[in-house]
Amino acid sequence: MNPWKNIASLSKDEIRSLQNRKLHQFINQYLYPFSPYYKRLFDSNKIDPAQIRTIEDLKNIPSISKQNFIDASGQTSNPLDYILQPDEKKIRQSWPASKLIPLALNKIIKGPEFVKDALEREFRPNFITFTGGTTNRPISFVYTEHDIKNLYVSGSRMLDIFKIERTEKIVNMFPYAPHLAFWQVVFGGLASAYFILSTGGGKVMGTEGNIKVLLQVRPSVILGVPSYVYHVIRTAREKGLRLDSIKKVILGADKVTEAFKARLRSELAAMGSKDVFVFGTYGFTEARCAWAECPTAPGVSSGYHLYPDKEIFEIVDPKTGEVKKEGEDGEIVYTSLDSRGSSVVRYRTGDFVKGGVTYEPCPYCGLRVGRLSSDITRISNVKDFNLSKVKGQLVNLNHFDQTLTAFDQIKEWQIELRKKNNDPFDVDEVVFYICVKEKTDKIQLEKDIKKSILVATEVTPNEVIFVSFDEIVNRLELETASKEKRILDKRPKS
Ligand SMILES: [Zn+2]
Repeated sequence: MNPWKNIASLSKDEIRSLQNRKLHQFINQYLYPFSPYYKRLFDSNKIDPAQIRTIEDLKNIPSISKQNFIDASGQTSNPLDYILQPDEKKIRQSWPASKLIPLALNKIIKGPEFVKDALEREFRPNFITFTGGTTNRPISFVYTEHDIKNLYVSGSRMLDIFKIERTEKIVNMFPYAPHLAFWQVVFGGLASAYFILSTGGGKVMGTEGNIKVLLQVRPSVILGVPSYVYHVIRTAREKGLRLDSIKKVILGADKVTEAFKARLRSELAAMGSKDVFVFGTYGFTEARCAWAECPTAPGVSSGYHLYPDKEIFEIVDPKTGEVKKEGEDGEIVYTSLDSRGSSVVRYRTGDFVKGGVTYEPCPYCGLRVGRLSSDITRISNVKDFNLSKVKGQLVNLNHFDQTLTAFDQIKEWQIELRKKNNDPFDVDEVVFYICVKEKTDKIQLEKDIKKSILVATEVTPNEVIFVSFDEIVNRLELETASKEKRILDKRPKS
């Protein structure tokens, strides 16, 4: 499988005209006729889908964001509205003769069941991933067989960008969960016939188990959440183990700085793996794919290589929504060009990128597909939900509050987010300080708290510490500070 087909050889102008053509087709033949949400959006804003002909026309469509998927009470709202839902009548009305004639011919030659089955396969949801723990009921994005094929394509393209050879052995330490990162790796590996052992991460095999796998399999490539990979490597080094097979480390689901990469490289060098390439990736549930960096000299990021035949990236002013030019800073806005299942157009990611998107050929690998700068930070509008990454997981901090407040035995509580061993590169730790009423069964309560927090946030507290009332008052600065210190984030700001 050549994951790039003809895309890699296109010039900047050719890419643009391909995107214009695909955008017009996608809006008119899929999104507007089949998406309940976008049909309403276009109609209520009096937007004629036929008039969306170029990337410049996109600005006429109102953008959407995470807020669209969550109602005021923090629950998921109408996820079905974003799923493409065609029927025979809608297909006949919106598809051109070039698509209808082959369907009609197939109906005659192979029978109506064949055509019905083909259409059902293209549009019937068969797979799902969630945004991790952002709400009580996480936002779900469904895939159809068509989207799974695209997940194969993006996975294969990433392996190609990382310059991983088919003879290499890969260990995937992303947590086993219905989240994009794990499955992007699994499907990419299957599509390209690479050897990948997925450990399921720390929750499934434990850190000891992951280290054993690394020692026995001797992979040249490892993947995972940055702080967890670092934790595994550091633990192995503290045990005095030698781990000299690693050549590439691929990190996802959280931000990676060049300083972090350097730290990981030096830890690995100390165990015998020299000159390791450390790559960051960027992806989000709503896109149902991720993008990759290519090999460069240490301390330099190539940016994330895009898939211009599958999506359009706009960079906009986060305040005014005005579309920025190539290379300018702004919020990342994503539009799908080849989606079934849950489909979004002009989705505001809440991520701010310095350096925007460039279509200059990549100086490191030569690809001309466009690259998104890797200098990405969350912007403030998402803070409305009080979201924070804890243990690589996007967590709504309000859910700690809701969950603990529900326990009648708890008088006061405080949560401390910190880094293990006070090391800024190590894994996050969540510590609960709890003051309880008299005669409370602390052992049972600790079990119940851990269980409820895991369900609400997908994060397990590292420690539950029972403290006296005086101590909790002091900790919360209830009597001294203007605002109680309910959630204490002691992690260094990145
Ligand atoms: Zn490159």
